[in-house]
Amino acid sequence: MNSYRCTRPVSLAGAESLGNLLRYLLLGRGMLTSNVAEALAFVRSGTGLPAPDIELIFAPAFFMEHGAANPAGHGFSLGVALLRPESRGSITLASGDPLTAPLIQPGYFSADADMGTLLVGLKAARQIAHAPAFDAYRGAEVWPGQGEQNDTALAAFVRAHFQTLYHPVGSCKMGDDLCAVVDNQLRVHGVTGLRVADASIMPTIIGGHPQAATLMIAERAAAFVLGRSTPPPIHFTDLEETNGVTHAAVSRDA
Ligand SMILES: Cc1cc2nc3c(=O)[nH]c(=O)nc-3n(C[C@H](O)[C@H](O)[C@H](O)COP(=O)(O)OP(=O)(O)OC[C@H]3O[C@@H](n4cnc5c(N)ncnc54)[C@H](O)[C@@H]3O)c2cc1C
Repeated sequence: MNSYRCTRPVSLAGAESLGNLLRYLLLGRGMLTSNVAEALAFVRSGTGLPAPDIELIFAPAFFMEHGAANPAGHGFSLGVALLRPESRGSITLASGDPLTAPLIQPGYFSADADMGTLLVGLKAARQIAHAPAFDAYRGAEVWPGQGEQNDTALAAFVRAHFQTLYHPVGSCKMGDDLCAVVDNQLRVHGVTGLRVADASIMPTIIGGHPQAATLMIAERAAAFVLGRSTPPPIHFTDLEETNGVTHAAVSRDA
Protein backbone atom coordinates (compact mmCIF):
# COMPACT_ATOMS: atom_id res chain seq x y z
CA MET A 1 0.00 0.00 0.00
CA ASN A 2 1.33 3.42 -0.98
CA SER A 3 -0.62 6.17 0.81
CA TYR A 4 -0.44 9.94 0.85
CA ARG A 5 -2.14 12.72 2.68
CA CYS A 6 -4.47 14.58 0.35
CA THR A 7 -4.05 18.36 0.42
CA ARG A 8 -7.60 19.02 -0.74
CA PRO A 9 -10.82 17.86 0.99
CA VAL A 10 -11.89 15.61 -1.90
CA SER A 11 -11.32 12.11 -0.49
CA LEU A 12 -13.85 9.75 1.05
CA ALA A 13 -12.77 10.78 4.58
CA GLY A 14 -16.06 12.60 5.09
CA ALA A 15 -18.24 10.03 3.32
CA GLU A 16 -19.95 8.61 6.38
CA SER A 17 -22.25 11.54 7.17
CA LEU A 18 -26.01 11.76 7.57
CA GLY A 19 -26.19 14.02 4.52
CA ASN A 20 -24.38 11.47 2.38
CA LEU A 21 -26.56 8.66 3.71
CA LEU A 22 -29.71 10.59 2.78
CA ARG A 23 -28.27 11.53 -0.61
CA TYR A 24 -27.55 7.86 -1.28
CA LEU A 25 -30.92 6.58 -0.03
CA LEU A 26 -33.07 9.26 -1.72
CA LEU A 27 -31.14 10.01 -4.90
CA GLY A 28 -28.77 7.07 -5.32
CA ARG A 29 -25.91 9.58 -5.59
CA GLY A 30 -22.97 10.91 -3.62
CA MET A 31 -19.89 9.55 -1.91
CA LEU A 32 -21.61 6.42 -0.61
CA THR A 33 -22.01 5.18 -4.19
CA SER A 34 -18.23 4.75 -4.31
CA ASN A 35 -16.85 1.22 -4.22
CA VAL A 36 -13.66 2.82 -2.75
CA ALA A 37 -11.40 1.03 -5.26
CA GLU A 38 -12.33 3.53 -7.95
CA ALA A 39 -9.62 2.90 -10.55
CA LEU A 40 -7.62 -0.20 -11.43
CA ALA A 41 -4.66 -0.94 -13.67
CA PHE A 42 -3.41 -4.38 -14.66
CA VAL A 43 0.28 -4.11 -15.50
CA ARG A 44 3.30 -6.29 -16.25
CA SER A 45 6.24 -6.16 -13.84
CA GLY A 46 8.64 -6.76 -16.74
CA THR A 47 8.79 -7.01 -20.50
CA GLY A 48 8.12 -10.37 -22.11
CA LEU A 49 5.46 -11.46 -19.64
CA PRO A 50 2.45 -12.97 -21.44
CA ALA A 51 -0.06 -11.23 -19.16
CA PRO A 52 -0.20 -8.66 -16.34
CA ASP A 53 1.10 -9.93 -13.00
CA ILE A 54 0.39 -6.84 -10.90
CA GLU A 55 -2.81 -4.97 -10.18
CA LEU A 56 -2.70 -1.36 -9.01
CA ILE A 57 -5.77 -0.24 -7.09
CA PHE A 58 -6.46 3.46 -6.57
CA ALA A 59 -8.64 4.54 -3.65
CA PRO A 60 -9.49 8.11 -2.60
CA ALA A 61 -9.00 7.02 1.01
CA PHE A 62 -6.51 5.59 3.47
CA PHE A 63 -6.73 1.80 3.88
CA MET A 64 -4.25 0.85 6.56
CA GLU A 65 -4.49 -2.43 8.42
CA HIS A 66 -7.84 -3.08 6.68
CA GLY A 67 -8.94 0.45 7.62
CA ALA A 68 -8.39 -0.06 11.36
CA ALA A 69 -5.25 2.13 11.52
CA ASN A 70 -6.24 4.97 9.21
CA PRO A 71 -4.93 8.39 10.25
CA ALA A 72 -7.46 11.22 10.57
CA GLY A 73 -7.92 13.52 7.60
CA HIS A 74 -7.94 13.19 3.86
CA GLY A 75 -5.74 10.74 2.00
CA PHE A 76 -5.42 8.58 -1.06
CA SER A 77 -3.81 5.22 -1.66
CA LEU A 78 -2.50 2.97 -4.38
CA GLY A 79 -2.66 -0.68 -3.44
CA VAL A 80 -0.40 -3.19 -5.17
CA ALA A 81 -1.71 -6.73 -5.62
CA LEU A 82 0.13 -9.78 -6.90
CA LEU A 83 -2.02 -11.41 -9.57
CA ARG A 84 0.10 -14.55 -10.00
CA PRO A 85 1.80 -15.26 -6.68
CA GLU A 86 4.25 -18.14 -6.64
CA SER A 87 3.88 -18.62 -2.88
CA ARG A 88 1.61 -21.46 -1.84
CA GLY A 89 -0.22 -21.91 1.44
CA SER A 90 -1.89 -24.93 2.96
CA ILE A 91 -5.04 -25.92 4.79
CA THR A 92 -5.04 -29.04 6.95
CA LEU A 93 -7.39 -30.64 9.44
CA ALA A 94 -6.68 -29.82 13.07
CA SER A 95 -8.57 -32.87 14.31
CA GLY A 96 -11.18 -35.46 13.32
CA ASP A 97 -13.92 -33.24 14.79
CA PRO A 98 -15.71 -31.52 11.87
CA LEU A 99 -16.60 -28.58 14.13
CA THR A 100 -12.96 -27.77 14.88
CA ALA A 101 -11.55 -24.98 12.71
CA PRO A 102 -8.91 -26.13 10.22
CA LEU A 103 -5.29 -25.01 10.29
CA ILE A 104 -4.77 -22.38 7.60
CA GLN A 105 -1.24 -21.34 6.67
CA PRO A 106 -1.38 -18.82 3.82
CA GLY A 107 2.37 -19.04 3.17
CA TYR A 108 2.65 -15.41 2.10
CA PHE A 109 6.08 -14.65 0.58
CA SER A 110 7.23 -18.26 0.94
CA ALA A 111 8.46 -17.86 -2.67
CA ASP A 112 11.17 -15.17 -2.89
CA ALA A 113 10.06 -14.06 -6.36
CA ASP A 114 6.84 -12.59 -4.96
CA MET A 115 8.61 -9.87 -2.99
CA GLY A 116 10.58 -8.78 -6.07
CA THR A 117 7.38 -8.49 -8.10
CA LEU A 118 5.59 -6.61 -5.35
CA LEU A 119 8.43 -4.09 -5.02
CA VAL A 120 8.24 -3.40 -8.77
CA GLY A 121 4.55 -2.64 -8.23
CA LEU A 122 5.20 -0.45 -5.20
CA LYS A 123 7.69 1.63 -7.15
CA ALA A 124 5.24 1.92 -10.05
CA ALA A 125 2.57 3.11 -7.60
CA ARG A 126 4.95 5.78 -6.28
CA GLN A 127 5.76 6.87 -9.82
CA ILE A 128 2.06 7.29 -10.61
CA ALA A 129 1.42 9.20 -7.38
CA HIS A 130 4.22 11.59 -8.33
CA ALA A 131 2.75 12.30 -11.77
CA PRO A 132 1.94 15.99 -12.38
CA ALA A 133 -1.81 15.23 -12.24
CA PHE A 134 -1.43 14.49 -8.53
CA ASP A 135 0.65 17.61 -7.72
CA ALA A 136 -2.39 19.56 -6.53
CA TYR A 137 -3.49 16.75 -4.22
CA ARG A 138 -0.35 14.92 -3.04
CA GLY A 139 0.75 15.63 0.51
CA ALA A 140 3.31 13.73 2.55
CA GLU A 141 3.75 10.04 1.87
CA VAL A 142 2.34 8.22 4.90
CA TRP A 143 2.94 4.61 3.76
CA PRO A 144 5.61 3.26 3.31
CA GLY A 145 6.91 6.75 4.20
CA GLN A 146 9.48 9.03 2.67
CA GLY A 147 12.34 7.36 4.61
CA GLU A 148 11.59 3.94 3.11
CA GLN A 149 13.42 4.07 -0.21
CA ASN A 150 15.79 1.16 -0.73
CA ASP A 151 14.63 -2.38 -1.46
CA THR A 152 15.61 -3.71 1.97
CA ALA A 153 13.56 -1.06 3.77
CA LEU A 154 10.63 -1.47 1.39
CA ALA A 155 10.64 -5.27 1.78
CA ALA A 156 10.68 -4.92 5.57
CA PHE A 157 7.74 -2.52 5.33
CA VAL A 158 5.82 -4.93 3.09
CA ARG A 159 6.43 -7.88 5.43
CA ALA A 160 5.22 -5.83 8.40
CA HIS A 161 2.13 -4.30 6.79
CA PHE A 162 0.93 -6.26 3.75
CA GLN A 163 -2.77 -7.10 3.67
CA THR A 164 -4.74 -9.87 2.01
CA LEU A 165 -7.14 -8.99 -0.80
CA TYR A 166 -9.39 -11.85 0.42
CA HIS A 167 -8.99 -14.03 -2.66
CA PRO A 168 -7.92 -17.46 -1.42
CA VAL A 169 -8.50 -20.28 -3.94
CA GLY A 170 -7.26 -23.72 -4.88
CA SER A 171 -7.48 -25.71 -1.64
CA CYS A 172 -9.47 -28.40 -3.47
CA LYS A 173 -8.10 -28.16 -6.97
CA MET A 174 -9.52 -29.66 -10.15
CA GLY A 175 -7.32 -32.03 -12.12
CA ASP A 176 -6.05 -35.56 -12.53
CA ASP A 177 -2.77 -35.44 -10.63
CA LEU A 178 -2.20 -36.77 -7.12
CA CYS A 179 -2.92 -33.38 -5.50
CA ALA A 180 -6.24 -32.92 -7.31
CA VAL A 181 -9.40 -33.31 -5.23
CA VAL A 182 -12.04 -33.04 -7.99
CA ASP A 183 -12.10 -34.13 -11.63
CA ASN A 184 -12.97 -31.89 -14.58
CA GLN A 185 -16.69 -32.25 -13.82
CA LEU A 186 -16.13 -31.21 -10.20
CA ARG A 187 -16.71 -34.76 -8.87
CA VAL A 188 -14.62 -35.59 -5.81
CA HIS A 189 -12.10 -38.30 -6.77
CA GLY A 190 -12.99 -41.58 -5.10
CA VAL A 191 -16.35 -40.42 -3.68
CA THR A 192 -19.62 -41.09 -5.47
CA GLY A 193 -22.31 -38.41 -5.67
CA LEU A 194 -20.26 -35.50 -4.30
CA ARG A 195 -19.16 -32.40 -6.22
CA VAL A 196 -17.40 -29.25 -5.10
CA ALA A 197 -18.44 -26.03 -6.82
CA ASP A 198 -16.65 -22.98 -5.46
CA ALA A 199 -13.39 -21.04 -5.66
CA SER A 200 -11.50 -23.88 -3.98
CA ILE A 201 -11.46 -25.94 -7.20
CA MET A 202 -9.41 -23.39 -9.18
CA PRO A 203 -6.08 -25.10 -9.95
CA THR A 204 -4.34 -21.71 -9.71
CA ILE A 205 -5.62 -18.25 -8.90
CA ILE A 206 -6.99 -16.32 -11.86
CA GLY A 207 -5.28 -13.10 -12.94
CA GLY A 208 -8.06 -10.92 -11.59
CA HIS A 209 -10.74 -10.89 -8.93
CA PRO A 210 -12.32 -14.34 -8.49
CA GLN A 211 -16.02 -13.62 -8.01
CA ALA A 212 -17.04 -13.81 -11.70
CA ALA A 213 -14.99 -16.96 -12.28
CA THR A 214 -16.58 -18.52 -9.17
CA LEU A 215 -20.06 -17.78 -10.54
CA MET A 216 -19.02 -19.43 -13.81
CA ILE A 217 -17.87 -22.51 -11.87
CA ALA A 218 -21.32 -22.61 -10.27
CA GLU A 219 -22.98 -22.31 -13.70
CA ARG A 220 -20.88 -25.16 -15.04
CA ALA A 221 -21.62 -27.28 -11.95
CA ALA A 222 -25.35 -26.78 -12.45
CA ALA A 223 -25.00 -27.81 -16.09
CA PHE A 224 -23.02 -30.93 -15.13
CA VAL A 225 -25.66 -31.97 -12.60
CA LEU A 226 -28.35 -31.49 -15.27
CA GLY A 227 -26.30 -33.51 -17.74
CA ARG A 228 -25.69 -30.57 -20.09
CA SER A 229 -22.36 -29.83 -21.67
CA THR A 230 -22.77 -26.04 -21.34
CA PRO A 231 -25.03 -23.78 -19.25
CA PRO A 232 -28.11 -22.43 -21.07
CA PRO A 233 -27.43 -18.94 -22.47
CA ILE A 234 -28.42 -15.83 -20.51
CA HIS A 235 -30.19 -12.99 -22.38
CA PHE A 236 -29.92 -9.34 -21.35
CA THR A 237 -32.69 -7.16 -22.80
CA ASP A 238 -34.28 -3.75 -22.18
CA LEU A 239 -30.93 -2.15 -21.30
CA GLU A 240 -31.51 1.13 -19.51
CA GLU A 241 -29.16 3.51 -17.74
CA THR A 242 -30.15 5.42 -14.60
CA ASN A 243 -27.69 7.52 -12.60
CA GLY A 244 -24.78 5.84 -14.38
CA VAL A 245 -26.01 2.34 -13.49
CA THR A 246 -27.11 0.02 -16.30
CA HIS A 247 -30.23 -2.04 -15.64
CA ALA A 248 -31.38 -4.95 -17.78
CA ALA A 249 -34.03 -7.63 -17.87
CA VAL A 250 -32.32 -10.99 -17.52
CA SER A 251 -33.78 -14.23 -18.83
CA ARG A 252 -32.44 -17.62 -19.68
CA ASP A 253 -33.53 -20.51 -21.87
CA ALA A 254 -35.05 -23.48 -20.07
C1 LIG B 1 -14.17 -8.64 2.04
C2 LIG B 1 -14.11 -9.34 0.69
C3 LIG B 1 -14.18 -8.61 -0.46
C4 LIG B 1 -14.13 -9.24 -1.70
N1 LIG B 1 -14.21 -8.47 -2.83
C5 LIG B 1 -14.23 -9.06 -4.03
C6 LIG B 1 -14.40 -8.29 -5.21
O1 LIG B 1 -14.56 -7.08 -5.17
N2 LIG B 1 -14.40 -8.95 -6.40
C7 LIG B 1 -14.24 -10.30 -6.49
O2 LIG B 1 -14.22 -10.82 -7.61
N3 LIG B 1 -14.07 -11.05 -5.39
C8 LIG B 1 -14.08 -10.48 -4.16
N4 LIG B 1 -13.91 -11.22 -3.04
C9 LIG B 1 -13.68 -12.67 -3.18
C10 LIG B 1 -14.97 -13.40 -3.44
O3 LIG B 1 -15.97 -13.00 -2.49
C11 LIG B 1 -14.73 -14.91 -3.28
O4 LIG B 1 -13.69 -15.32 -4.16
C12 LIG B 1 -15.96 -15.70 -3.60
O5 LIG B 1 -17.04 -15.32 -2.77
C13 LIG B 1 -15.69 -17.18 -3.38
O6 LIG B 1 -16.91 -17.90 -3.57
P1 LIG B 1 -17.13 -19.29 -2.87
O7 LIG B 1 -18.44 -19.78 -3.36
O8 LIG B 1 -15.92 -20.15 -3.09
O9 LIG B 1 -17.15 -19.01 -1.29
P2 LIG B 1 -18.15 -18.09 -0.47
O10 LIG B 1 -18.68 -16.97 -1.31
O11 LIG B 1 -17.40 -17.77 0.78
O12 LIG B 1 -19.38 -19.04 -0.16
C14 LIG B 1 -19.31 -20.03 0.83
C15 LIG B 1 -20.71 -20.17 1.39
O13 LIG B 1 -20.78 -21.33 2.22
C16 LIG B 1 -21.51 -21.00 3.36
N5 LIG B 1 -21.11 -21.95 4.42
C17 LIG B 1 -19.95 -22.01 5.09
N6 LIG B 1 -19.95 -23.02 5.96
C18 LIG B 1 -21.13 -23.63 5.82
C19 LIG B 1 -21.74 -24.76 6.44
N7 LIG B 1 -21.11 -25.47 7.38
N8 LIG B 1 -22.98 -25.10 6.05
C20 LIG B 1 -23.63 -24.41 5.10
N9 LIG B 1 -23.11 -23.33 4.47
C21 LIG B 1 -21.88 -22.96 4.84
C22 LIG B 1 -21.14 -19.57 3.66
O14 LIG B 1 -22.11 -18.95 4.47
C23 LIG B 1 -21.11 -18.98 2.25
O15 LIG B 1 -22.37 -18.52 1.83
C24 LIG B 1 -13.97 -10.64 -1.78
C25 LIG B 1 -13.92 -11.38 -0.60
C26 LIG B 1 -13.99 -10.74 0.62
C27 LIG B 1 -13.95 -11.58 1.89
